Amino acid sequence: MATTNDFPASDINSYDYIIVGGGTAGCVIASRLAQYLPNKRILVIEGGPSDFNDDRVLNLREWLNLLGGELDYDYPTTEQPMGMLHALFFFFFFYFFFCVCVCVCVCVCV
Ligand SMILES: Cc1cc2nc3c(=O)[nH]c(=O)nc-3n(C[C@H](O)[C@H](O)[C@H](O)COP(=O)(O)OP(=O)(O)OC[C@H]3O[C@@H](n4cnc5c(N)ncnc54)[C@H](O)[C@@H]3O)c2cc1C
Repeated sequence: MATTNDFPASDINSYDYIIVGGGTAGCVIASRLAQYLPNKRILVIEGGPSDFNDDRVLNLREWLNLLGGELDYDYPTTEQPMGMLHALFFFFFFYFFFCVCVCVCVCVCV
Protein backbone atom coordinates (compact mmCIF):
# COMPACT_ATOMS: atom_id res chain seq x y z
CA MET A 1 0.00 0.00 0.00
CA ALA A 2 1.23 3.48 -0.85
CA THR A 3 -0.18 6.94 -0.16
CA THR A 4 0.38 10.09 -2.12
CA ASN A 5 -0.88 13.65 -2.32
CA ASP A 6 0.29 14.02 -5.90
CA PHE A 7 -1.72 11.86 -8.29
CA PRO A 8 -1.61 12.40 -12.06
CA ALA A 9 -5.07 12.09 -13.61
CA SER A 10 -3.63 9.91 -16.38
CA ASP A 11 -2.89 7.16 -13.83
CA ILE A 12 -6.57 6.65 -13.07
CA ASN A 13 -7.01 4.10 -15.87
CA SER A 14 -4.46 1.76 -14.33
CA TYR A 15 -6.75 0.87 -11.43
CA ASP A 16 -9.38 -1.87 -11.35
CA TYR A 17 -11.37 -0.37 -8.45
CA ILE A 18 -11.65 3.25 -7.38
CA ILE A 19 -13.20 4.03 -4.00
CA VAL A 20 -14.03 7.66 -3.28
CA GLY A 21 -13.88 8.39 0.44
CA GLY A 22 -11.42 6.72 2.80
CA GLY A 23 -13.76 6.68 5.78
CA THR A 24 -15.20 3.70 7.62
CA ALA A 25 -17.00 2.09 4.68
CA GLY A 26 -14.40 2.99 2.06
CA CYS A 27 -11.52 1.51 4.05
CA VAL A 28 -13.44 -1.70 4.79
CA ILE A 29 -14.32 -2.14 1.10
CA ALA A 30 -10.72 -1.43 0.03
CA SER A 31 -9.40 -3.85 2.64
CA ARG A 32 -11.79 -6.63 1.61
CA LEU A 33 -11.04 -6.13 -2.09
CA ALA A 34 -7.31 -6.28 -1.42
CA GLN A 35 -7.78 -9.38 0.72
CA TYR A 36 -9.86 -11.35 -1.78
CA LEU A 37 -8.50 -9.93 -5.04
CA PRO A 38 -4.78 -9.47 -4.31
CA ASN A 39 -3.92 -9.07 -8.00
CA LYS A 40 -6.28 -6.16 -8.57
CA ARG A 41 -5.19 -2.56 -8.24
CA ILE A 42 -7.31 -0.56 -5.83
CA LEU A 43 -7.35 3.21 -5.45
CA VAL A 44 -8.86 5.04 -2.48
CA ILE A 45 -9.35 8.78 -2.97
CA GLU A 46 -9.73 10.65 0.33
CA GLY A 47 -10.57 14.33 0.30
CA GLY A 48 -9.95 15.18 3.93
CA PRO A 49 -6.82 15.37 6.08
CA SER A 50 -5.68 12.45 8.20
CA ASP A 51 -7.23 12.33 11.66
CA PHE A 52 -4.80 9.68 12.86
CA ASN A 53 -4.01 10.27 16.56
CA ASP A 54 -5.93 13.56 16.42
CA ASP A 55 -7.21 14.13 19.96
CA ARG A 56 -9.98 16.37 18.69
CA VAL A 57 -11.47 13.31 17.00
CA LEU A 58 -10.51 10.72 19.61
CA ASN A 59 -12.05 12.64 22.50
CA LEU A 60 -15.71 11.82 21.85
CA ARG A 61 -17.04 14.16 24.55
CA GLU A 62 -15.74 17.08 22.53
CA TRP A 63 -17.35 16.05 19.24
CA LEU A 64 -19.61 19.10 19.15
CA ASN A 65 -16.49 21.27 18.87
CA LEU A 66 -15.75 19.59 15.51
CA LEU A 67 -18.88 21.11 13.95
CA GLY A 68 -18.10 24.08 11.74
CA GLY A 69 -14.35 23.45 11.98
CA GLU A 70 -11.81 22.35 9.40
CA LEU A 71 -12.83 18.68 9.77
CA ASP A 72 -16.50 19.42 9.09
CA TYR A 73 -17.66 19.32 5.44
CA ASP A 74 -20.94 20.92 6.53
CA TYR A 75 -22.84 19.07 3.82
CA PRO A 76 -26.48 20.18 3.79
CA THR A 77 -29.37 17.74 3.61
CA THR A 78 -32.62 18.02 1.72
CA GLU A 79 -35.74 18.60 3.75
CA GLN A 80 -37.92 15.48 3.86
CA PRO A 81 -41.56 16.60 3.50
CA MET A 82 -42.93 13.45 5.12
CA GLY A 83 -40.11 13.07 7.64
CA MET A 84 -40.68 10.10 9.93
CA LEU A 85 -44.32 9.79 8.87
CA HIS A 86 -43.46 6.91 6.52
CA ALA A 87 -42.17 4.91 9.45
CA LEU A 88 -45.15 5.85 11.59
CA PHE A 89 -47.57 4.73 8.87
CA PHE A 90 -45.67 1.47 8.49
CA PHE A 91 -45.79 0.75 12.23
CA PHE A 92 -49.47 1.75 12.42
CA PHE A 93 -50.47 -0.64 9.63
CA PHE A 94 -48.20 -3.36 10.98
CA TYR A 95 -49.82 -2.96 14.43
CA PHE A 96 -53.30 -2.89 12.86
CA PHE A 97 -52.57 -6.06 10.85
CA PHE A 98 -51.16 -7.75 13.95
CA CYS A 99 -54.31 -6.92 15.96
CA VAL A 100 -56.56 -8.21 13.19
CA CYS A 101 -54.60 -11.49 13.09
CA VAL A 102 -54.85 -11.87 16.86
CA CYS A 103 -58.63 -11.22 16.76
CA VAL A 104 -59.10 -13.75 13.97
CA CYS A 105 -57.06 -16.36 15.87
CA VAL A 106 -59.01 -15.74 19.06
CA CYS A 107 -62.35 -16.00 17.20
CA VAL A 108 -61.31 -19.22 15.45
CA CYS A 109 -59.92 -20.87 18.60
CA VAL A 110 -62.72 -19.92 21.01
C1 LIG B 1 -17.66 12.55 16.45
C2 LIG B 1 -18.20 11.23 15.97
C3 LIG B 1 -18.08 10.11 16.78
C4 LIG B 1 -18.57 8.88 16.37
N1 LIG B 1 -18.42 7.81 17.19
C5 LIG B 1 -18.86 6.62 16.78
C6 LIG B 1 -18.67 5.46 17.59
O1 LIG B 1 -18.12 5.53 18.69
N2 LIG B 1 -19.12 4.28 17.15
C7 LIG B 1 -19.74 4.17 15.92
O2 LIG B 1 -20.13 3.05 15.55
N3 LIG B 1 -19.93 5.24 15.14
C8 LIG B 1 -19.51 6.46 15.53
N4 LIG B 1 -19.71 7.54 14.74
C9 LIG B 1 -20.41 7.38 13.47
C10 LIG B 1 -19.44 6.82 12.44
O3 LIG B 1 -18.27 7.57 12.45
C11 LIG B 1 -20.11 6.94 11.08
O4 LIG B 1 -21.39 6.34 11.11
C12 LIG B 1 -19.27 6.23 10.03
O5 LIG B 1 -17.95 6.70 10.07
C13 LIG B 1 -19.86 6.47 8.67
O6 LIG B 1 -19.02 5.80 7.73
P1 LIG B 1 -18.98 6.23 6.25
O7 LIG B 1 -17.93 5.41 5.57
O8 LIG B 1 -20.36 6.20 5.67
O9 LIG B 1 -18.58 7.76 6.24
P2 LIG B 1 -17.20 8.41 6.76
O10 LIG B 1 -16.48 7.55 7.72
O11 LIG B 1 -17.54 9.80 7.17
O12 LIG B 1 -16.34 8.44 5.42
C14 LIG B 1 -16.59 9.32 4.35
C15 LIG B 1 -15.22 9.75 3.83
O13 LIG B 1 -15.39 10.35 2.56
C16 LIG B 1 -14.53 11.48 2.50
N5 LIG B 1 -15.10 12.35 1.49
C17 LIG B 1 -16.24 13.07 1.55
N6 LIG B 1 -16.43 13.74 0.40
C18 LIG B 1 -15.38 13.42 -0.41
C19 LIG B 1 -15.01 13.79 -1.74
N7 LIG B 1 -15.77 14.61 -2.47
N8 LIG B 1 -13.86 13.28 -2.25
C20 LIG B 1 -13.10 12.42 -1.52
N9 LIG B 1 -13.40 12.03 -0.26
C21 LIG B 1 -14.54 12.53 0.29
C22 LIG B 1 -14.56 12.06 3.89
O14 LIG B 1 -13.43 12.85 4.13
C23 LIG B 1 -14.56 10.79 4.74
O15 LIG B 1 -13.26 10.36 5.06
C24 LIG B 1 -19.22 8.78 15.12
C25 LIG B 1 -19.35 9.90 14.29
C26 LIG B 1 -18.84 11.11 14.71
C27 LIG B 1 -18.98 12.34 13.82
